[in-house]
Amino acid sequence: MADIELRSPATGELIKRYAVTEASEIATIMDKARAAFLRWCDSSFAERAKLLRTLREVIVANCEDIVSAICASTGKVRVEALMADILPTLDILHYYEKEAAKILSPRKARTPIWCLGARSYMLYKPMGVILVIAPWNYPFQLAMVPVITAIAAGNAVILKPSEVTLNIGEKIAELCQAAGVLQNLVQVVYGAGETGRQLIAARPDKIFFTGSSATGKRVMAAAAEHLIPLQLELGGKDPMLVFSDANFKRAVKGAVYGAFANSGQVCVAVERLYVQDTIFDKFVAALVEKVKEVRVGSGFDCDMGPLTFPHQAEVIEENLKDAADKGAVFLLPPRHNGYCYEPVVMKNVRHDMKVMQIENFGPVLPVMPFTSEDEAVALANDTVYGLGSSVWTQDLAKAKRVAARLKAGNCFINDVIKNVGNGYLPFGGIRQSGFGKYHGAEGLYGFSHQMSVMLNSGRLSNEINWFPYSQEMYATLKTMIDGLHGKIGLRTIKGLWRACGYVRKKLFG
Ligand code: NAD
Repeated sequence: MADIELRSPATGELIKRYAVTEASEIATIMDKARAAFLRWCDSSFAERAKLLRTLREVIVANCEDIVSAICASTGKVRVEALMADILPTLDILHYYEKEAAKILSPRKARTPIWCLGARSYMLYKPMGVILVIAPWNYPFQLAMVPVITAIAAGNAVILKPSEVTLNIGEKIAELCQAAGVLQNLVQVVYGAGETGRQLIAARPDKIFFTGSSATGKRVMAAAAEHLIPLQLELGGKDPMLVFSDANFKRAVKGAVYGAFANSGQVCVAVERLYVQDTIFDKFVAALVEKVKEVRVGSGFDCDMGPLTFPHQAEVIEENLKDAADKGAVFLLPPRHNGYCYEPVVMKNVRHDMKVMQIENFGPVLPVMPFTSEDEAVALANDTVYGLGSSVWTQDLAKAKRVAARLKAGNCFINDVIKNVGNGYLPFGGIRQSGFGKYHGAEGLYGFSHQMSVMLNSGRLSNEINWFPYSQEMYATLKTMIDGLHGKIGLRTIKGLWRACGYVRKKLFG
């Protein structure tokens, strides 16, 4: 199979040539992962916590190298890589290091009274081999966090990084080796979509996929062939709602950051900005001035780098052309030098434009006015996606009310984006943005089989529900239902007394 050439999006320079993992190797990789799983699945929580701590130390020690590798293949600026790829990864490592034992220990549940004598609890067991398929926009965080979570829950992992950022897959393999991760517990496979398909066909025990909604549908269809459970973290079209009583300066700066951080290549980027009509003109004017200050390039004093992936430029250009044809007004028009795209701001946009419906995943900010709270909510929800959202107002009661009405998996009140880096709070989309949550306790549960256990000491030789059935048993059950769920009167009390007699006779007689 042909090699993949990894090139810098900033300079076009060749970074490295990677040999694609051969289809014939996949079965062996899966066998090795299964063998590693059998050695790791019974590891103690203390052993897992020690490994997470060592990984954390190794990442910190190699931080500059990792940042350089991320910047080389994505073109992003160094602050972005350090802040959004490294920091949240370290945080979640620390969290699971401290909390995984508590989260995954057996948990008691209540037992209904008619199961007299039994107790209930839940066990969390590792699932087996997890296939993690990762995207290129935050190639370290979005690969490492599921990898860490999977091994913290006792699984083995096969990681397929994006073909655009294979060097980060290689870096993760090196870090795992340096941290002493059990051999073959985390294996990295190199390739593009075809390799992803081959890995799914090798029947992992779960797929954790992060990427576009279009690919997510293909992954789900392939997983369905073998009924492989999966979690989909897909694209978004996040709305930002700015009410007239918002902190004006903060909302302007927040919109600029939300739309243009990482050149807009963020799953929870602000893709649609809605501003209340009473402040619309003033807000848009201030916004344009602030966006003009955004510096595009690659140095420490730059805010956003080039687009990472050439294909994305085609999507953006098509969306912008469609908007221009339908009457959008460009306040900051599209301009680019190679893959360095300047921020675009536009108004007079409508929901029948692609720019308001299709994920741009680039530095494009369409702005639209709204009049009322109801209209803001309706506009925000008029999308097939449901990933993130933000509400901006100093009236926190209104903010919470609006947030609760939004059809999205996540909402940030008076801020944007960094909620996706909060490892303590479950994160995930709804609708075409996917399903399932990771981060927080849910993250670990997502990589575990939950087993429900009921325990009876087994001392008695009979149970009230066992044969033989009889009219007396029927009357006892009926009285029990009246006593538990009906209105209790004198008749019920008398009946319950009789029922106790029946139960005693059946259990101990
Ligand atoms: P993509 O869908 O093109 O690719 C994602 C991964 O899937 C890559 O590793 C790719 O090689 C692999 N792949 C492609 N076809 C496959 C197939 N048929 N079977 C198995 N694997 C296959 O996405 P991308 O361009 O790398 O990433 C950008 C997208 O990811 C955007 O839509 C963005 O919103 C989304 N994203 C979502 C989140 C989230 O948390 N919800 C986070 C980051 C990015």
